[in-house]
Amino acid sequence: MEQTGMRIAVGGFQHETNTFAPTKADYAAFEQADSWPALQRGEGLLSAFKGMNVPIAGFIDAASSGNTLLPLVWCSATPSAYVTEDAFERIMAMMLEDLAAAGGFDAVYLDLHGAMVTEHFDDGEGEILARIRAAIGPRVPLVASLDLHANVTARMVGEADALIAYRTYPHVDMAETGARAAEHLFRLVTSGARQAKAMRRLDYLIPLTAQCTLIEPAASIYGLVSEAEGHVSGNGRVSSISFTTGFPPVDIPECGPVVVAYADTEAAAAEAAQRIADAAREAEPDFREKLWSARDAVAHAIAHSAPGRGPIVLADTQDNPGAGGNGDTVGILSELIAQDAQNACLAVLFDPESAARAAEAGEGARVVLALGAKTGGAPGEHPLEGEFEVMRITDGEFLATGPFYGGSRMSLGTTVRLRIGGVQVVVASRKGQCADKEMIRHTGLEPRELGILVVKSSVHFRADFGPMASEVLVVESPGPNTADLAKLPFTRLRKGLRVTPMGAGFGVS
Ligand SMILES: [Zn+2]
Repeated sequence: MEQTGMRIAVGGFQHETNTFAPTKADYAAFEQADSWPALQRGEGLLSAFKGMNVPIAGFIDAASSGNTLLPLVWCSATPSAYVTEDAFERIMAMMLEDLAAAGGFDAVYLDLHGAMVTEHFDDGEGEILARIRAAIGPRVPLVASLDLHANVTARMVGEADALIAYRTYPHVDMAETGARAAEHLFRLVTSGARQAKAMRRLDYLIPLTAQCTLIEPAASIYGLVSEAEGHVSGNGRVSSISFTTGFPPVDIPECGPVVVAYADTEAAAAEAAQRIADAAREAEPDFREKLWSARDAVAHAIAHSAPGRGPIVLADTQDNPGAGGNGDTVGILSELIAQDAQNACLAVLFDPESAARAAEAGEGARVVLALGAKTGGAPGEHPLEGEFEVMRITDGEFLATGPFYGGSRMSLGTTVRLRIGGVQVVVASRKGQCADKEMIRHTGLEPRELGILVVKSSVHFRADFGPMASEVLVVESPGPNTADLAKLPFTRLRKGLRVTPMGAGFGVS
């Protein structure tokens, strides 16, 4: 559907908060670029995302022709612990100021994550949407796109006219989701009619690594979600339906998976939401996953890797910087060295100090380093001491080419590739989830030719590394993104919520 002549305010405020992570997101974390652009404001926002797999890019592409887009602030920070009150209030003040300056408009679009917890609010997005709603009044359509890892709250559903979430993990459809949000918003503006809403909650948390939509049971459930959208029954037409599998390491009562449906009638919305919720409830036993110890995973990989087969990929999920880890734990790295693994590589280790020292020593030099484990993200872990050969030094600037980060200009700061025995490690000066081959390849190493590859990622790596991997093992090694959710010290979940699929209910003895 192409619509023209509208004035649409567009902005975004993205954060995925792991309340158990070590570091908070302050204003500087939102202001600077990471794997996504720096804070954007003003006309520049409308061109800053061109060609990127980011929701606002897809929205702008779908909506810019013939319409006037009015830029609000857009920003994101790498997942971490709480957003500081200072950062939240400063960014919201900008957003409301920009909204006031935009003057009259027909609708507002926001690019949100949906799992933000601030120092002062459990439900960051509920607060954002409520403040925007208060500013624009009850009648102007307010549509937000969300990450698949949103912990959708009743307040969010109440304040927004529509919440539209990704359907893939790895998130290869972020821009596409922005475009779907645009279509939905066009329909709301042109019809002038409100849509009925329905929300259903699941009673169990799904571990991140089991949420992958390339594997069952999520693949089939998302198939049903796609089919349900646009479905017309005797009750009416379903205009949008989303299933958010949730971001589990978040100690708030409304943590967990949710289905949200929009339709012409209450009955049609309820029927659609119920159908997906029922399918997800039936799938609960299949969402359980196998976790490997670092020792067993490395031993298995050494025994089974073979030239030409493609690497055995070990997912260092607990230290995933995309889920609140600092990307600097060395549990699996130590194990690779201890077991004398050959043709192995770990990427990407966050350690600016070691990267600087290695860069200063120069390519070909040997340096004694205490590598990683400097941020205290995994209590009891110590830096890995050893003599490393400096194989390559880069400025960490390159274009990502895989289906997840594709099109993004990465900026990892001074980056080095080091070698100790048969084990190599890519060390960067900024945190980055290893989900794109270029993160390794730009240092002159071809990931496909490795026997063993360790990635600091939970699932996103599967988009680019999955096709070349001969096997994928999910490993439980130090880091704050606890893979076995039963081990997290939750205190505030709602009573009865099962912390693992088929596990015990929270607060029920
Ligand atoms: Zn996500």
